[in-house]
Amino acid sequence: MTARNLEAASAWLGEQRGAMQTALADLVDIDSNSYDKPGTDRVADAMRGWLQADDIEAEHLADPADGDVLIARLPGLSGSEAPVVLMGHRDTVFPTGTVPQRPWRVEGDRGYGPGVADMKSGLVLQCFVLMALRRMAPLPFPVLGLFTADEEIGSHRGRVAIEAYARGARAAFNAEPGRVTGNLVTSRKGGANFLVQVSGRAAHAGMNHADGASAIETLARKITSLHALTDYDAGITANVGLISGGMSSNTVAPSAEAKLDVRFRTLEQRETLFARIREIVAEPGVPGSAATVTQTSEFLPLEPKWSEELLARYQASAAQIGFTVEGEFTGGCSDAGFTASLGIPTLCGVGPVGGKAHTDNEYCCLETLVPRAQALLRTIVGLPD
Ligand SMILES: [Zn+2]
Repeated sequence: MTARNLEAASAWLGEQRGAMQTALADLVDIDSNSYDKPGTDRVADAMRGWLQADDIEAEHLADPADGDVLIARLPGLSGSEAPVVLMGHRDTVFPTGTVPQRPWRVEGDRGYGPGVADMKSGLVLQCFVLMALRRMAPLPFPVLGLFTADEEIGSHRGRVAIEAYARGARAAFNAEPGRVTGNLVTSRKGGANFLVQVSGRAAHAGMNHADGASAIETLARKITSLHALTDYDAGITANVGLISGGMSSNTVAPSAEAKLDVRFRTLEQRETLFARIREIVAEPGVPGSAATVTQTSEFLPLEPKWSEELLARYQASAAQIGFTVEGEFTGGCSDAGFTASLGIPTLCGVGPVGGKAHTDNEYCCLETLVPRAQALLRTIVGLPD
């Protein structure tokens, strides 16, 4: 791999603006809600088609129920096993049938359509970076593309694939959209959801009130304690966003449940927070009632210590191409937390710049397709062997 190779591969990317935009239009025009397996698999088929046409090995890890995981591989020189991982998710939050209503369109420098920023433009970028890297073979280390299908609903299956394939990687780059400022994401909160279920004892609210054990009262006390876990200075929030329970206003409630969302900045906070949640749920409530808690989903945090060095490398690469970029914190979660929590240097938000994700006005800044791909290429190539 030589400096001249890098300049040639970067120049090749410089000529791909039209091809990247066409590819983006193709992906946006495939409905791919997280629960739409045929849709997320069609996105994988399209990507695999481009990669294979460019002599890059790509295969589906088939899944009978959920969307497949798409894996792409560029070999490294023998003796170097630890890969660089390029990640992305193919699912969107938009229901199947959105594309016919508002398909891909361009207005000025912006592309619009469901998932255009989050993150079909990131998928296009990762594929073109793989193609540019393929032009530089032999590479000093393997490069792995890892494209999952369930990030927007908690990455249950994606996490398993990420932790299996990325373990031991030398670096991971997640192509969530670049922030509207153009910045990368160097720090993200972790977050988890819990279901708290309380059982009590029913009784007629008029005739036998004292025989009852109100599950609603027990739950209400626990909600107050759970909300008190919020500590804005530490970056911890606890929110019960959904409650249900009871039978009728004239019955002491025999059951009640609540859905709890917590966010935290570090794995250390996570341990303490989760232990406190279990303690609160175990505390005695109204005599005759009992509570249980089940964790239903989780994203791990991207702690800034895992992104610092890659940010500096990316900034140097971007400066050579002619743009400046900083790292940014966001409270939102992503798959980047899974690789960071394995101790892998991780940078997120390396996708093209975009905004208004998860809304009808979501857009991608098309002029950032090529330079962001070039900056990522340069960053990868500059990693130590
Ligand atoms: Zn996303």
